[in-house]
Order: sequence, then C-alpha cells, then structure tokens
Amino acid sequence: MNTPHDEASAGAILTIDLGAIVANWRLLQGRAGRAACAAVLKADAYGLGAAQVGPALAAAGCRQFFVAHLDEAIALRPLLPHDASVSVLHGPMPGSEPAFVAHGVRPVLNSRAQLDGWRALAHRLDRELEAVVQVDTGMARLGLAPEELRGLAADPQAWAGVRIGLVMSHLACADEPAHPANAAQRRRFQLARRLLPAAPASLANSSGIFLGEDFHFDLVRPGAALYGIAPVTGAPSPLQPVLRLDARVIQVRHVEAGTAVGYGASWHSERPTRIATVAVGYADGWLRSGSNRGTAWFGDVPLPLVGRVSMDTITLDAGALAEGELQPGMAVTLIGGRAGLDAVAADADSIAYELLTGLGRRYTRRHVGACHGASPVAT
Ligand SMILES: *Cc1c(COP(=O)(O)O)cnc(C)c1O
Repeated sequence: MNTPHDEASAGAILTIDLGAIVANWRLLQGRAGRAACAAVLKADAYGLGAAQVGPALAAAGCRQFFVAHLDEAIALRPLLPHDASVSVLHGPMPGSEPAFVAHGVRPVLNSRAQLDGWRALAHRLDRELEAVVQVDTGMARLGLAPEELRGLAADPQAWAGVRIGLVMSHLACADEPAHPANAAQRRRFQLARRLLPAAPASLANSSGIFLGEDFHFDLVRPGAALYGIAPVTGAPSPLQPVLRLDARVIQVRHVEAGTAVGYGASWHSERPTRIATVAVGYADGWLRSGSNRGTAWFGDVPLPLVGRVSMDTITLDAGALAEGELQPGMAVTLIGGRAGLDAVAADADSIAYELLTGLGRRYTRRHVGACHGASPVAT
C-alpha cells in the first residue's frame, strides 16, 4: 500500500488514525440503537486504505461492508472474517454475475435488468443466491423505480432463486435535517418494502443516522462519518478527526515587495516576505481551486497559501516566521489540528468527501492507532 520511498525522502506524510476510525464506528453504532452498523469502504475507504480500515473495523465487531465496484470487493474479501458480508453497491455489470459467486460477495441489485441477470444465474446454478435490493425513493440515481416494483410484485416468478438479504435505499438530503425530502424518502421506502418479500432494511448513510431512530431500520451504512467528516451541515461534529497531512518544505526564499509568485502571476507580495515552497500540488489532490486560499500551519502559526496551486507544489507566505525558523525538510500541516478537514475542503470550494477520495498516491501513508488480531497493523 505504501509508496516505495521512506519517510525521510517523502514529500508529504498522511497519517491515518485507525483507532479514531474504530472510535467513530463505535459512536455511530451507539447512535444507531438496535440497528447494526455497517462500514462503507468504497474508493479505498475514501482514500484512507480499505486494506487497513476493513480489518480494523472487523476486529471491532463490524460485520457488514459496502464497496462500489466488484474489484474493490474482490480485493477486500480475503482480508475480512468469513462471517462478514461484502456488498457491491453498483451491482453486476452484465456478464459479471458469476464472479460475485466465485468471490463470495453480494451484489446490490439496482434495476430490473440486474435482477434478471442474477435470477438467471441462480437458475443456471440451480441454487438460491443472496442479494441486496436497492429501491429508488427520490434520488433517481440507482435502484428499482416504483413502477418496476409494482411490476415485480405482480410477477410471482420475479424473485425465484433470489434471497433478499437486505432492502436498501439512499437519502439525497440527509445532511440537512430539516429538508422535506428526508421524510418523503422514508415514506416511499416503507411503501416499497411492502411490495417486496420480507427482508431487513437499511436507509441511513452517515448523516441519516443523525436524523433519528425513524431512519435507522435494521442497518445503517456510514462512510464519511467513520473518516471524521461532519455529518450535519453547520453543526458541531461528535466525531474524531482521523487524518493528518504533513507536507515538507523544499525551499524558503526571501522576496521583495511586489514579487509575483507562481503561474499566471496571480499573487504579488505587498511587503518583503519569505515564500516557502512545499511538495504538494494538484497532482496530489490538492485542489487547484484552492489557489490563493487556505492556510498551512507551522505549529500555531498560520501560513497563507499564496499564488496558484501547481502540479507538484504550493507556495506559502511564511513572513510571519523568523528568518531560519522554517527550513527545507521541515513539515507544515495541511490537514489536521487547526486545519479541520471540512474547512480545508471549503477553502477549495469542495467537500471533504472529494478532498479525501482525491488524496494523492505520492503521499507516504502511515496507519497508526489500532491493533487487529495478533498481527501488527500493516502499512
Ligand atoms: C457512499 C454511500 C453511503 C455512505 O455515505 P456517507 O455519506 O459517506 O456516509 C451509503 N450508502 C450508499 C448507497 C452510498 O453510495
């Protein structure tokens, strides 16, 4: 998982606190009451390492995992206990159904066509095959539409050979508790369940957990909140931060007043100052929309990002520090501590989901803070 260079040569080090992720999962499980708490590990656990996060959560007792793609499930499955389930949110691409069976992973069936493909395989293998069924309750993205459900309810053979392990839907506006779409989707979900064979149900993502008991059903499916993303827009978050990004200074230079910094000469120094060039750029997922915005921290001292974000570097106004205080090889903090994840993302007109899943492959990733089983934490 790690990049080949060691920490001495790393341009930036991403420290991922597995203990904090486990603590967040336990907090969410507590909020979910009698419902079970799954973990969503798609996009490599939102960029933080599914191969490390999955086993750490399994050791804490998590038994249901969701990813987006079949390939993600195939990579994850051998790292998890036998009695854990791995479900693939996208469901099977046409023709890929046998691979789900071969690897012991569950598809989420999102359409009549996906159901038909799965039922055909069950018929061919002459055995019952389990699946999750998703219904669309108002997002128009994935899931069976109400008219498809009515058609299926009228067809006694529709589910032949298919055991429904879970019925699920997904909320579009859960991070806004007052949004009327939440109650509307919940009502449609209840109606949809009546058209399906009886099965456990799941509606809530991270934010949905905080909408209250009515939204918990039998299983909740947090992703973001596990990774420290605030679940409710504008409200204080009860979750622990899990991530720290420390990036190293390549060079510090003195500049006179009126010096242009970076591509496009989009920033000029108003006074003599020092510019620190740091080894992180948009190729590392540091969004270019954060040009001339945001702050890195050297201890308690904020260093404003000035000039455009380049492919491999950003430039900071380090004028607040004494000469020689910041030197090549030293690190500034870009995420973590005073640089809260959600605020950093907002500085680039983005959201923490996008920031996390775009975190670059060039970072040295260091997983700390949890032991699973007898083996030490792999990095
Ligand atoms: C991504 C996803 C989740 C997790 O959502 P968060 O907002 O990250 O908690 C849950 N369910 C589905 C269907 C998803 O696509």
